Amino acid sequence: MDTEQLRECGHRMVDFVADYYKSIESFPVLSQPGYLKELLPDSAPRQPDTLDSLFNDIRQKIIPGVTHWQSPNYFAYYPSNSSTAGFLGEMLSAAFNIVGFSWITSPAATELEVIVLDWFAKMLQLPSQFLSNALGGGVIQGTASEAVLVALLAARDRALKKHGKQSLEKLVVYASDQTHSALQKACQIAGIFSENFRVVIADCDNNYAVSPEAVSEALSMDLSSGLIPFFICATVGTTSSSAVDPLPELGQIAKAHDMWFHIDAAYAGSACICPEYRHHLNGVEEADSFNMNAHKWFLTNFDCSLLWVKASQANSVVDFKDWQIPLGRRFRSLKLWMVLRLYGVENLQSYIRKHICLAKHFEQLLMSDSRFEVLSGKFVLRFAVGAPLTEEQHVDAAWKLLQNEASKVLGSM
Ligand code: PLP
Repeated sequence: MDTEQLRECGHRMVDFVADYYKSIESFPVLSQPGYLKELLPDSAPRQPDTLDSLFNDIRQKIIPGVTHWQSPNYFAYYPSNSSTAGFLGEMLSAAFNIVGFSWITSPAATELEVIVLDWFAKMLQLPSQFLSNALGGGVIQGTASEAVLVALLAARDRALKKHGKQSLEKLVVYASDQTHSALQKACQIAGIFSENFRVVIADCDNNYAVSPEAVSEALSMDLSSGLIPFFICATVGTTSSSAVDPLPELGQIAKAHDMWFHIDAAYAGSACICPEYRHHLNGVEEADSFNMNAHKWFLTNFDCSLLWVKASQANSVVDFKDWQIPLGRRFRSLKLWMVLRLYGVENLQSYIRKHICLAKHFEQLLMSDSRFEVLSGKFVLRFAVGAPLTEEQHVDAAWKLLQNEASKVLGSM
C-alpha cells in the first residue's frame, strides 16, 4: 500500500462523506429502483480508473439510488444508526483488516470484544452469568439472524445430546406470530421440522405480547403427542409494534421443561440502558441467550449484533470462531468501544430519551387530529424515530406530509 496515496485519497473520502452528511436532507429518502444497469458498463474496467471519475459516478449514479437511512427524515422500518465514533471505528477496523478467528490471530480483537461486551452487559444490568468471568460471555455477531441461529444450533445440540440423535424430528420451537422471521429461517437451516415450528398467536388485547397460557397450552398438546419442546424465543420490542413478551413467565415455562430460552431484543434492547426502561428486561435471569443490535439504535455502524450466552467453553482464551457460523471475523469491537468511550453512558441514555420524546411528540400530533388513531395490528402507518440527525422539525414536516396526504385521500372520498 502506498501510504501517501492512502493519506491523500483518505482525506478526500472523508471530505466527501462529510459533504454527504451536510447535504443529506436535500436527497429524497427513498430512491427509484432499476436504473443502474443502464448507467454502468457490463464488465469491470481493464485499466485503473481515477478517484475523480469514481467520485463523479458516486454523485451522479450511486447516490440517486441510495435509500438514505441516516437522513433526519427517515422514519421507516427501524433505526440503523451511524455516528462519527462508529464511522471512525469502521475506518480503523478497515485499516487493521485483521481476520480474528482465534485469539492468537489478534489478541487485542478478542480481548477488546470480551471487555466491551462485559461493559455492555453491565449497562443493561444483565445477570452476572452472562459476564466473561462467569461461565458465559458475549460475542459480536453480524446480525440478529445469525445470533438466533447460533443459539438455536446450541440448543438443538444440547437437546439431541439429552434425547438422542434420532429425536431431531420431535424437537419443537415456540414463538409468537410477532417474532421476527429470522427465527423461522434459523429453524429451516437447523433442520427443525417445519411442522414443529409452533407459532402462537399474540394477544391483541395485551399490546401483541404472547400469552404464557397460550404457549403452555400448545406445549401440553405437543407433549401429549410425544414431541419434545426445546426452544422458546421471546421478543423485547417486536419489529412491527415494539411489543414486549412476558419474560418471567416464559422463562419459567422454559425452565420447567428444560428448554433453551432465547430473548431477541434486537431493536428495542438499547432503550434498556436507561433505568426507566430497564424493567422490560425483568426475567432475563432465566434466559440462556440474549441478543440486541448495537447497529440499530445505538450509534454503532452496521454490523454489530451483540449476543450473550450463559454457557460457553471454559478455555483459558476465547476463540470466537467457535461462537459463530463463519471462521473469519472482523474487528467489530473497535467501533462499539469507540462509541462507548466517545459518548459515555449518560450521553447515550440522553440520545435514547430524546428519540422516545420525539416519538411521543409525534403521537400527540397524531392524536390531535381526529382523522388518525394510534393502533397496531391492522393496516398501519409505521413511524419509527431513531435517525441520529432527526430533530423536532423533521417530525413536524413528516406529520404535515401525512396530513396533506390524508386531506387528499379523504377529500376525494
Ligand atoms: N429481531 C428483531 C426484533 C428485529 O427488529 C430485527 C430486524 O428488523 C431482527 C430480529 C433481524 O435483524 P438482523 O437484520 O440483525 O438479522
